[in-house]
Amino acid sequence: MRPTGPLHLGHYHGVLKNWVKLQHEYECFFFVADWHALTTNYDDTSKVEEYVWDTVIDWLAAGISPSASNIFVQSKVPEHAELHLLLSMTTPLGWLERVPTYKEQQEKLNNKDLATYGFLGYPVMQSADILMYKAGNVPVGADQVPHVEMTREIARRFNHFYGKEPGFEEKVELAIKKMGKKNAKLYKSLRKKFQETGDQEALETARALVEAQGSVSLNDRERLYGYLDGAGKIILPEPQALLTPVSKMPGLDGQKMSKSYGNAISMRESKESVEKKIRTMPTDTKRVRLTDPGNPEDCPVWEFHKIYSSEEVKDWVQKGCTSAGIGCLECKGPVIDAVCAEQQVFVERAKEYQESPEIVRNIVSEGSERARDVARETMDDVRSAMGLAYK
Ligand code: SF4
Repeated sequence: MRPTGPLHLGHYHGVLKNWVKLQHEYECFFFVADWHALTTNYDDTSKVEEYVWDTVIDWLAAGISPSASNIFVQSKVPEHAELHLLLSMTTPLGWLERVPTYKEQQEKLNNKDLATYGFLGYPVMQSADILMYKAGNVPVGADQVPHVEMTREIARRFNHFYGKEPGFEEKVELAIKKMGKKNAKLYKSLRKKFQETGDQEALETARALVEAQGSVSLNDRERLYGYLDGAGKIILPEPQALLTPVSKMPGLDGQKMSKSYGNAISMRESKESVEKKIRTMPTDTKRVRLTDPGNPEDCPVWEFHKIYSSEEVKDWVQKGCTSAGIGCLECKGPVIDAVCAEQQVFVERAKEYQESPEIVRNIVSEGSERARDVARETMDDVRSAMGLAYK
């Protein structure tokens, strides 16, 4: 996540709530992408530091736990820059120019000169961020799937160029032997079936067989995977997009919630401000007078009810709105109460971190060290595959 200042409820309901769940299901790496912020905000870096810490505090306030996940800051793991550089050597320019967001963002942010080398290359940096951890899954919304697809292509191209280590065939033979006679025979016959007939099931079964080999080292495992589909050793495995549930959290005006649209409620806002924002929210424009019936489907407040209210309250809204039995201010009451109650939890969790910023620094420093341990290993593999591991 880029550091863009205090996070809002759109971030919470769209991303963070899902991360809180994922951290108990997977080994997770969550990082503040401070270098990514520079791709569009290179002309003013004065707020980067403040925003980095705001972002981490909001994550912690949302329930991301430093003991259940790795929380770090991108620039504290300089290996990301090295992998970005090396991947940029093999990434064709046309791939980057065709990324849909490249043109879109340039048009949207037309007050900025985004015809820069850094902005064009940000999908390569993103690929480096993902491939560094040999990530299996990347939690993204549907609009980000093309970026994960590009990461897969960049990994495939890298493996194609550098996966042919010297003596690969001999090393694979040794690795196959380590599986034991029975498994080795099965592996070979599944590989033959896949290569001769393209049978995907045979490929999947063979992969599962490799996966189940406890006695085979990580390096050998990657050779065995690579040998299956005719490639060399897989240095950078291709990740999958893990589609996250679509957030239904709109902004105060019914559009996407965004700080730049001025329609956001931040995760830790004062009660008075939340009240004021919701009380002045637009409603169904057809309800001019209290006696005019409305339609919740045409009202942004209803979208908030869908997230925050019980079935009973929603029923009360439906009946009251369509029969002009309740006023809009009355209708907004339960939403104000629910948003304030949710914020109370965030405020309380954040208090400790705001009072003792060194705790946040320590969490990030430890998370960054753990991330670096993984990153160093990946870079050792990458450098040696590319023939750059000389001393
Ligand atoms: Fe919207 Fe509620 Fe007013 Fe109906 S009563 S228009 S749902 S705020």
